[in-house]
Amino acid sequence: MSASRAHQAGKREANLRAINERVVEAIESLDGGTSGLFTIICECALDNCSEMLVVPRAVLERARASAVQFIVANGHVLADVEHGIEHGEDWTLVAKHGAAAASAAGET
Ligand SMILES: [Zn+2]
Repeated sequence: MSASRAHQAGKREANLRAINERVVEAIESLDGGTSGLFTIICECALDNCSEMLVVPRAVLERARASAVQFIVANGHVLADVEHGIEHGEDWTLVAKHGAAAASAAGET
């Protein structure tokens, strides 16, 4: 993957994160977030992916605590820009590395 492609992937995931944060806020305002599970949009770099994932609140909070960690569907991990650090039934918590990490963190 080229540097610019990796850069694009990082940007796309950062944009999806912004959308998912609004989704989580909406859920919390509805049920107070008491269920402990959140349905979010897959944050992978694949164009047109709109897979919905059910993720435990604790995992979501861990991802949100880092600028370079994202939640993607199993099988949507792009090994050249990220690696899985935690796995669930239908999701993988990934950490970006290299150029994708820099762009996701807003450093470029
Ligand atoms: Zn995906």
